[in-house]
Amino acid sequence: MRLKDLEEELCLLKAQSLYRNLKRIDSPQSDMVTIDGREHISLCSNNYLGLANHRTLKDAAISAAEKYGTGAAASRLISGNMALHERLESITASFKQTEDALIFNTGYMANTGIIQSLASDKDVIFSDELNHASIIDGCRMSRATVFIYKHRDVDNLRLLLAGSKGFGKKIIITESVFSMDGDIAPIPDIKNAAIEHDAILIVDDAHATGVLGKIGRGSSEHFGIKPDAGLLQIQMGTYSKALGSFGAYIAGPMVLKEFLINKARSFIYTTALPPGVLGASIASIKIIQENDTLLKRLWDNTRFFRERLKGLGFNTLDSETPIIPVLIGSAEDTIQFSERLFQEGIFAAPIRPPTVPEGSCRIRTTITAAHSVGNIEYCTEIFEKVGKELRII
Ligand SMILES: *Cc1c(COP(=O)(O)O)cnc(C)c1O
Repeated sequence: MRLKDLEEELCLLKAQSLYRNLKRIDSPQSDMVTIDGREHISLCSNNYLGLANHRTLKDAAISAAEKYGTGAAASRLISGNMALHERLESITASFKQTEDALIFNTGYMANTGIIQSLASDKDVIFSDELNHASIIDGCRMSRATVFIYKHRDVDNLRLLLAGSKGFGKKIIITESVFSMDGDIAPIPDIKNAAIEHDAILIVDDAHATGVLGKIGRGSSEHFGIKPDAGLLQIQMGTYSKALGSFGAYIAGPMVLKEFLINKARSFIYTTALPPGVLGASIASIKIIQENDTLLKRLWDNTRFFRERLKGLGFNTLDSETPIIPVLIGSAEDTIQFSERLFQEGIFAAPIRPPTVPEGSCRIRTTITAAHSVGNIEYCTEIFEKVGKELRII
C-alpha cells in the first residue's frame, strides 16, 4: 500500500461524484449558520427543536462542569459512574415511560452494542432495508444471519419470519422515523408480528425523540404503544438530535439494563460521558416536558415547508416528519443543486450512496422550530428557482 493508492481511490470517488468534504461552521448551530464568512440558512441539521444553542442548556452544561469537572475519568464500570449519569438515566426512563434506561456515548455505539450483545451466530435478525449504518454494522458485528425486509413492508417481514426455522433468538429492528426519507415505520403492525413470532423488537428513535408524540416522547407515544408482557421491546434514542446535546440511551425493562451493563462492549470499553454533556441532556428533557411550544412550532414549520415543496412539484417521497427529502436522482445533479442553494445562502448537503441507494440522491432538508416563516418562504422561492434552472421541476 502506497500513498498513491489512496490518492487513486480518492480520484475515483471524485470521478463518480461521490467524493465528500467537510464544510466548516463558524457559528453556533441554529437556523442560521456562518460558513465561508457568510450567513446561510441551515436546512440540514438534526437540531429539530433548536435547543443546541439554548441558554438553559448552556447554563446547565457550565454548572455541571463547575460542580463535577470536565471528564468522567474512566468507564462507567470502573470509576466513571457519576451522580449525573444515574440522574439522566432516571429522567430518561420517566420521559420514555419505561422501567429503566441506560446511557451510551453515541447512537452508533448504542446500536452496535445492543445488537452485538443480544445476537450471536445462532440467531437471526430482520432489518428494514433502509436502516441506518449503525444498525447494519451492529448486525455485522453480531455474526447473526440477517434478513433484509422491504422498506416498511410488514407482509414481507412476516414472510421472512415464517420462513426462518432453526435459529435461536429472532430480533426485528427498525428505525421509527427514517433518517434519510422522513417516513414512519408501521410500529404497531411490526410489534404484532414480533409477538406472533416470539421475536425481540428494537426501535431506533434517533429522529423521533423530541419530535414524535404529544410531548415528544417518541414513537411509542405517537402510536400509543404500551409495554407488553411477553415481548422484549427495546427503544433506542439519542440526546444529540432534537435534544440539542450529545449521547444516546436504551430504554426498556430493568433486566435489559443489567444485561447490557454486563454484555455490551460499546458500553463497557469506553470512557463515560462527561458531566457537561449530561447536564445539558437533563436540562433538555426538562424543557421538553414542561412546554410544548417548540414542538408545536416544529410541526407548523414542517407542514408549511413540505406543502410548499410538494406544491412546486418536488418529490418529497413519503415524508411525514421534519425530515423532508427532495429527490434529485443522480449524484452529479444533486451536488449541483446543493451548490446552487449554497450560492443563494442556503446550506443543504447533498446525500449520495452509500448513505442512500444508487439513483436516489437527494437534498435531505430538515426543518426546525428555530426557522422563521420568512426564512422558510425564502427557501421555497430558491428551491423553485434552482429546481427550474436544473429542470428538476
Ligand atoms: C444519527 C443516528 C444514529 C447515531 O446516533 P449518534 O448519536 O449520532 O451516533 C443512529 N440511528 C439513526 C437512525 C440515526 O439517524
